[in-house]
Amino acid sequence: MTVWDDLVGQDRVRESLAAAARDAAALVTAGAAGAEPPESSRMTHAWLFTGPPGAGRDTAARAFAAALQCVGPDRALGGEPGCGFCDGCHTALVGTHADVEIVRTDLLSIGVKETRELVRRAQLAPAGGRWQAIVLEDADRLTEGAGNVLLKGVEEPATRTVWLLCAPSVEDVLPTIRSRCRHLVLRTPSVDAVADVLIRRDGIEPEAARSAARATQGHIERARRLATDERARARRNTVLRLPLRVDDVGGCLRAAQELIDAAGQDAKEAAEEVDAKETEDLRAALGAQSGGRMPRGTAGAMKELADRQKRRSTRTQRDSLDLALTDLTGFYRDVLALQLGSRVQLANEDVRDALDGVAAGSTPERTLRRMEAIGACREALDRNVAPLLAVEAMAMALRAG
Ligand SMILES: [Zn+2]
Repeated sequence: MTVWDDLVGQDRVRESLAAAARDAAALVTAGAAGAEPPESSRMTHAWLFTGPPGAGRDTAARAFAAALQCVGPDRALGGEPGCGFCDGCHTALVGTHADVEIVRTDLLSIGVKETRELVRRAQLAPAGGRWQAIVLEDADRLTEGAGNVLLKGVEEPATRTVWLLCAPSVEDVLPTIRSRCRHLVLRTPSVDAVADVLIRRDGIEPEAARSAARATQGHIERARRLATDERARARRNTVLRLPLRVDDVGGCLRAAQELIDAAGQDAKEAAEEVDAKETEDLRAALGAQSGGRMPRGTAGAMKELADRQKRRSTRTQRDSLDLALTDLTGFYRDVLALQLGSRVQLANEDVRDALDGVAAGSTPERTLRRMEAIGACREALDRNVAPLLAVEAMAMALRAG
């Protein structure tokens, strides 16, 4: 195995990164020997990984960060950096390497304060004497102010610091930042490639792996969840039944309410896992006394945590709803394929009866309008329209006739 194993169907990205990691290792060797650095190098200080959700932006960035830390025995013999089993690779991959900082947010935005701290950290020399890698998994969530703070860090990098920024598309990152990054584009991996990794790495049964890979259309993480998590399967089934339930106004409103409730339930369950413990930990850290009384002056910090938990819950709900809309779009894409008689592989073969029924009862034009309604719902949610209103409007537009 190597650090690149989890990067599925991205040969060109992998080649670029492996070449950069080789040159990065040469720079370290030259530096240690007091020699001049090699004249041309494919290593650079800032990278931007873009690509559709689930293609593996974060995986690529983390693999590269690990390859930069590789100290495997083969390295001395001129082997490729990124062996996957040496101490450097291993700790970087599991997230405990001192020189690899992985920034992942569960909030809707990353603010100035947090970004300033990263930029400060970027000025430090790596503890292990190789490279310091800062992986920003949600660079598209930087506020404008935070983006400007990050720009300073990217503009004036410390000698051995590497920024690895991940975002859905280049438009999601400030032009001034992206012009300083080397840009790598990940593609949606093929259904076969995703199925293959589920079978090989996660030990999932071939039939279940292929079905999950098809249903999620190249989204690796979602495919794994679908193949392994009963709840995720149940949720998907509910969403895919929605097109059969929207024949009258009452049915539309009920279906909309159910989608919203399901998203709320997801947020509630996610919160139950972390919020209580987080609150308890902070109370203890602030010196809660027996009987639960808090010392003076700690209310602000408790309120800050409560606000943060609330924002996180909002994001979970939104992500959950977004997933439902993705499944729904996939359903109508299949319907359209059936109506047009195209010979593509259907994503939702497992609900073929429902697909056939909707396809027979409407026209391709109607299907396209329904897909547009889902897109409009998504845009409304992006504009912060109240979720229930946006989903109700969509459900009404999905109605038969
Ligand atoms: Zn290694």
